[in-house]
Amino acid sequence: MSGRRFIQVIMPLQLEWEPFYYYDLEEGASPLEEGDRIRVGFAGKDYVAVVSNPDAGTEAAGIGVEKIRPVLQTDIGLPPVSKTETELWRQVAGYYLCTVGEVYKAAYPAGKTAEEEVKARTMERLLKRLEDRESRIERARKPETKERYIAERDAILAEISKSAGERQRSAAPEIELTQPQKDAYSGIKEASKSGKPALLHGVTGSGKTEIYLKLARESMDEGRNVLYLVPEIALSRQLEDRIRKQFPCELQVSHSGESLARRREAASFIRSGSYIVLGTRSAVFLPHRNLGLVIIDEEHDPSYKQDNPAPRYNGRETAIMLAKIHGATVVLGSATPSLESLYNCSVGRYSLVDLTARYYDAEDADVEIIDTIAERRKNGMKGSFSRKLIEHIRECLDRKEQVMILRERRAYSPVVQCEECGDIPRCNHCNVSLSLHLRADGSRKLVCHYCGRVTEFTGTCGKCGGKLSPLGSGTQKIEEEARELFPEARIARLDSDSAMSRKNETGIIRDFANGDTDILIGTRMVTKGFDFSGLTLVAVIQADSILGQQDYRADERSLQMLEQFRGRCGRRGRRGLFVIQTSQPGHPVYQSLEGSLAPDTTLAGFLAERKLFGYPPYSRVVGITVKDYNLSRLEKMADDFKGVLEHSRLGQSASIVGPYKPAVDKVANQYIRAFRILLPKDRSLLLNKETLAKVAECFAKERKYTGHITLDVDPV
Ligand code: ADP
Ligand code: ZN
Repeated sequence: MSGRRFIQVIMPLQLEWEPFYYYDLEEGASPLEEGDRIRVGFAGKDYVAVVSNPDAGTEAAGIGVEKIRPVLQTDIGLPPVSKTETELWRQVAGYYLCTVGEVYKAAYPAGKTAEEEVKARTMERLLKRLEDRESRIERARKPETKERYIAERDAILAEISKSAGERQRSAAPEIELTQPQKDAYSGIKEASKSGKPALLHGVTGSGKTEIYLKLARESMDEGRNVLYLVPEIALSRQLEDRIRKQFPCELQVSHSGESLARRREAASFIRSGSYIVLGTRSAVFLPHRNLGLVIIDEEHDPSYKQDNPAPRYNGRETAIMLAKIHGATVVLGSATPSLESLYNCSVGRYSLVDLTARYYDAEDADVEIIDTIAERRKNGMKGSFSRKLIEHIRECLDRKEQVMILRERRAYSPVVQCEECGDIPRCNHCNVSLSLHLRADGSRKLVCHYCGRVTEFTGTCGKCGGKLSPLGSGTQKIEEEARELFPEARIARLDSDSAMSRKNETGIIRDFANGDTDILIGTRMVTKGFDFSGLTLVAVIQADSILGQQDYRADERSLQMLEQFRGRCGRRGRRGLFVIQTSQPGHPVYQSLEGSLAPDTTLAGFLAERKLFGYPPYSRVVGITVKDYNLSRLEKMADDFKGVLEHSRLGQSASIVGPYKPAVDKVANQYIRAFRILLPKDRSLLLNKETLAKVAECFAKERKYTGHITLDVDPV
């Protein structure tokens, strides 16, 4: 066996915590380099692996040489992975306690169709031709030759735009920043000089986006690329248009859940020249080159966190790691910054930059809180709507202005109940009650929001044969009620049911933006980022469902969401109105919204509470979930795991909560138990995290339970 060269590779798999596998190179094969992508076989399947060590010597430590198998193919025509990329993967894997292979898999999702492959190749070919023409233009001596190449280049560019679904060039005039914007801008530059991320805290409409765009322009002028992150793509439709006006040829949009072909296109786009990527969290794993600026907009938004599968990373933290690797400026922006980021400012890790004035001089929308219990007593409710809210909506419609209504539950009704025996139908596979949905064809279905199973709604109780009736109202019911109350209004609904496809979603938003819809009803999707000039009334129905989460972050989250929603209206100088219907009118979150508590006091209060209980940002939380199809096996496993945790080398100061039943303790036939580990943020942190990862790994290997354990660092 001697004389053979071994290499180490990263596989797109969850293989141990240090996922390097050795493969034997064919004799006479051309040498590989770090980052090269090659084809290898493993457990009967083919994978594209990344070379992490091209020269692991001729002896493979600790592994039986006979087990090492040959590389299947070296030259597979895929561009290599850069060192900055693998550096990021290692950092993410280290921080989020997963394997480098899992991060690699997220960065380069596999599973292609032949058609996608062809499309991606077409793009790559075009880009190659483009490069060729550019260099010819440079080298051309005769003006005619040069002109011809320029014409050819432009033709290729047009084709690229077409095949990437892009528009034609158009240059937008530069916008002059106002004084407060200029000050904020200098603040960001200053922070960047001292190597710190800047947290731009500015109300909606204060002109944060204009500042980002100026920074982006500068970075591009210096020949350095830009990553512009947003929590969700729905948010970024209008933004996309704004950026495209400035960077018609350089903009590339990339979001989680796009097709593999689109992701490849984005990757080759990035490899081929200067770029600005507008994307959701997964855009951090594109093959970035020479980043000069990283913008993290709406940094407080929980959708930056990936819950499943691993890597369970937060796009915000990962983007900061990425920026550090590239030496890029970082701006985090929000009207309602996360406590984590404010804390980071207070300890000097970030620099806080305030932007208080609104560009259009609008004031915050007035807040009106409507006590639904009191109203019901006075006969002031009509179904889900209070008479007061109905009045406000009528006035608004009379003025030809628009209304948005938030209801945090999709479906017709979230629960149904038997009028005779009181039974509430539940999912057979999950421990949750079923929701009633109306289909476009008029049929009625019971749907499980956790596993997605759908059954016919017969209207009769399965237990006693009594009549099942809807309890409470979701967005569909609110829409139905609104149509009855305001028959003359044009009404639309935006939730994950109505926005099944991106096209529907864009259509609904576009109609509202164009003023073709008067009332838009939706789930939290409507609270985010959109800028509608005709919108002057926003209302929440049954706001209690927003407050009602049992979590130390609940108040922070609900306040952020309500503030964001409030920010949707009155952005153009008109004073807006924000109506909240609730059965808990005295809740401190509302007091803060109404302004009876200063925002800073509220935040300080939240922070003080977190400190008192040792919650983040004063500690780090690792959530652990254990799942199994068999309940008693699961309970035994969870108890056993607890014992192992307690006897592990976790420091004294680490606190272990659990195993406990999570709010939903069975999903898709799997029972669930959870732990929450609080780790102090001190010198023991790294060691504690390592210990946790090791304990979980060994437990899974040695204890031979059938259940699965997952670790989630900084769960949201
Ligand atoms: P934010 O991102 O903070 O919500 P935007 O950047 O979207 O705010 O600004 C709100 C509105 O004000 C936008 O329509 C924007 O074009 C406009 N605006 C902001 N700053 C300027 C400026 N300096 N000159 C002209 N228009 C501006
Ligand atoms: Zn279910």
